[in-house]
Amino acid sequence: MRRGVRFTVTPGNHDGLDEVLDLVVREGIERFCLYHLVPSGRGGYLRDITAQQRRGVLARVFRFAEDHPEVEVLTVDNPSDGPALVHWLEERDPDRAVRCREMLSWNAGSKGGPGIGIGCVDERGLVHPDQFSRHRVLGDIREEPFSVIWTEAKDPWLAELRSSERPLASVCGACPDLAMCGGGNRARAELATGDPWALDPSCSRTDIAAVPH
Ligand code: SF4
Repeated sequence: MRRGVRFTVTPGNHDGLDEVLDLVVREGIERFCLYHLVPSGRGGYLRDITAQQRRGVLARVFRFAEDHPEVEVLTVDNPSDGPALVHWLEERDPDRAVRCREMLSWNAGSKGGPGIGIGCVDERGLVHPDQFSRHRVLGDIREEPFSVIWTEAKDPWLAELRSSERPLASVCGACPDLAMCGGGNRARAELATGDPWALDPSCSRTDIAAVPH
C-alpha cells in the first residue's frame, strides 16, 4: 500500500517542516504533499504564512525533492509554486529551468484548474468549480446532467474564468510569470477579498512579481 503525508502549511507549523520531512524519510513514505491553505470552511479560522516564509518553505521542499528522488513530492493549491520552482532552478541548473518553464507554460497553471480541469459535486448534488468554492453553485445534478452543467457553462463567472483573457488583478496582468501560473488560486482570492479577480493573497511572488526578472 502506498502511503503519503499531507502537510497544510500555517504560521503554527511551518517551523516543524524539517521534522515532518525527516519522518517521511525515516518511515520510507512514498509521497509528500505540501498544501497551501485555502481559507474555506474551517480553514477560514486559520491564518496564512507570509510570502517570505512561503519562499523559505518552498526552497526547503524543492531541496528535499532534489535529495530524495525516491519520494514523490507535490505542492498543491498554489499556482505560483511553478514560477517559484523555475526561479529556484535558474540559480542551480539553468537548462532544467528552461525545460521546466516550457512544461509549466504548456500546462498554464490555474488555467487548467478549478472550473476547467477540476470540478466538485457536493453531497447535495450541487456543482462547484472545486471543493473550496462552495459559495459558487454552477448547477444541480438533480435537475440537469453534470455534462450539460459543465459544458454549457451558463454561469457568467465560469465563462470569464474559461476565457483566454481573464479580468485578473493588474499585478497578475503585468506579471512575467503569468503564462506559467495562470493567475493564482481564484477561490482563495475571492474568499480573502470578496473579489474573484483579486490577487491571490498567497502568491509567493507577490512582493517581487512586479519586478521584471
Ligand atoms: S502575481 Fe499573479 S500571475 Fe504572477 S505569480 Fe503571483 S498569482 Fe501568479
